[in-house]
Amino acid sequence: MKLYAMTGGATGIGAALREQLQRAGDQVISIDIKEGDIIADLSTSSGRDSALAAVRERATDGLDGFIACAGLPPVAPPRTIAAVNYFGAVDLATGLQDLLGKRRGTVLLVSSNSAPMTQTTHPLVQAFLAGDEAAALAAAEGEHGQTVYSGSKCALVLWMRRNVVAWAKAGVRVNAVAPGITLTPLADQVFKDPELGDLMRQFGASVPWGEAAQPDQIANVMRFMLSDEADFVCGSVFFVDGGSDAMLRSDGF
Ligand code: NAD
Repeated sequence: MKLYAMTGGATGIGAALREQLQRAGDQVISIDIKEGDIIADLSTSSGRDSALAAVRERATDGLDGFIACAGLPPVAPPRTIAAVNYFGAVDLATGLQDLLGKRRGTVLLVSSNSAPMTQTTHPLVQAFLAGDEAAALAAAEGEHGQTVYSGSKCALVLWMRRNVVAWAKAGVRVNAVAPGITLTPLADQVFKDPELGDLMRQFGASVPWGEAAQPDQIANVMRFMLSDEADFVCGSVFFVDGGSDAMLRSDGF
């Protein structure tokens, strides 16, 4: 039996993964703003600190994994997208590194197949990576929600790649999953948006292998990435998107 901490386990992909892990006999400490073992608002540093303290109380012997699933869609306020999607993931992972190292644990970040849609050199991405939250949130303020969303997901992958060596030395392997459109409450909010809804439907119609995923299809891959069977998977991004990223970036990898 393994012990995991995760954010965003109340609904969608996170709920599917939490249920799969629990069905397999693992324990999951679920942190969420809505419902879970620990209620915390990850858009604020005080919320993240209280979440970390509460996890540490429950995991004194270490953690086998941490999954950063909480996220907000491109239709949310840009500052809040930036705070939850990037700092809610990176700050929690960093605050749990020692507990993960105790068990040669693993971190799984949830990026998106939209991550490559923002350039790695974009000032917002660079502001995330500089780790100055006030500056990053100020940079997010003037941007379209879609840019902040994909920028936050791009920055998560770069953060992982830049830190993979140090984290491996600390006994923790870090990976990211990059889902395509998945039928969750987050996607519902985008489908209902007057500006982005039609674009998302058109994008869905272009997916080479089916239009959209069910949350369990993403969770299946995440569960594998967390497992001992994936013990040599380190610093990888798994696109689980029905072939969209390969279609859009057929000359890149
Ligand atoms: P979802 O809305 O069902 O789940 C998001 C979870 O995050 C919810 O449980 C929500 O309560 C929690 N959350 C939101 N704000 C929070 C806050 N301030 N503090 C704590 N918890 C908070 O959506 P989902 O689609 O399952 O999203 C899960 C992850 O997958 C997100 O990171 C999302 O960006 C990513 N993703 C989703 C899709 C998609 O099409 N659904 C595609 C690519 C990536």
